[in-house]
Amino acid sequence: MRATWTKEQRDQLLRAFEKASDALVAAARTREDEVLLNALRNEDDRLQQAYWDGLPCQTLSRCPRCDQALDKAFDPWGLDGLFWQENLSLRPAEPAPCPHFAVLLGAVHLNGLPPKGGRAEAHPGPEAPYVVPRLLALPGMTAVLSSIPMANGYTAYPIAYFADPMPKPSLLTQPWTKRSFSFESEGELAWTEKNETWDFDLEPWIASGVLRWIAPGDPDFRIVAPPASPPAPCPYVGLPGRRIGLTVKKDSAWPK
Ligand SMILES: [Zn+2]
Repeated sequence: MRATWTKEQRDQLLRAFEKASDALVAAARTREDEVLLNALRNEDDRLQQAYWDGLPCQTLSRCPRCDQALDKAFDPWGLDGLFWQENLSLRPAEPAPCPHFAVLLGAVHLNGLPPKGGRAEAHPGPEAPYVVPRLLALPGMTAVLSSIPMANGYTAYPIAYFADPMPKPSLLTQPWTKRSFSFESEGELAWTEKNETWDFDLEPWIASGVLRWIAPGDPDFRIVAPPASPPAPCPYVGLPGRRIGLTVKKDSAWPK
């Protein structure tokens, strides 16, 4: 189990990272000598790495096939965390997912609160949960909706896709907070971005059995049993919120 930072340590790290980035930009502009620039670059990298090394893991979902919890690194404190910022996203250390895990997507509802991000753009998704019909049309694919209250008052909705059989990586899509993704194809690293259609009308997908959910607030993240007849109401159906991907930076939010 690796050591994780506290909220205060996180905020200090992010502030120190901003200062270090400012110093680096200023030094590069005035063409400081290479030794100083290298020292500033190293400090910038060190702080960024410290954020990722201390980012806590938490349960975000559960596999509907083998019942293993999906534990992943996640920043629940706010969109100012590097987790949410595409260009600053490294791969954090996290437990291996079950073999059925395909991709994690998500949404974040701001709950009417002001947008609050960091200095780099964050791509938290739309405000309401949704599915990608193209993914759910792949053989053996199931999506699971869940909900995480964030410490800043927002609500995050992880939407995890699990598959058996696992489709080719090129058939998957860019994960939550990213606008593109890379994968290995015939030994080569390939890169792509998918222009996905999002469907916010969840009921038909639930009825067809390819969309499952975990009740908000369930500490054990248990998947709700397939609805009997009449169907159990799904708490994620018909949620309000902007149904377009948002970009959040500093105090602003706009459609991506
Ligand atoms: Zn599994």
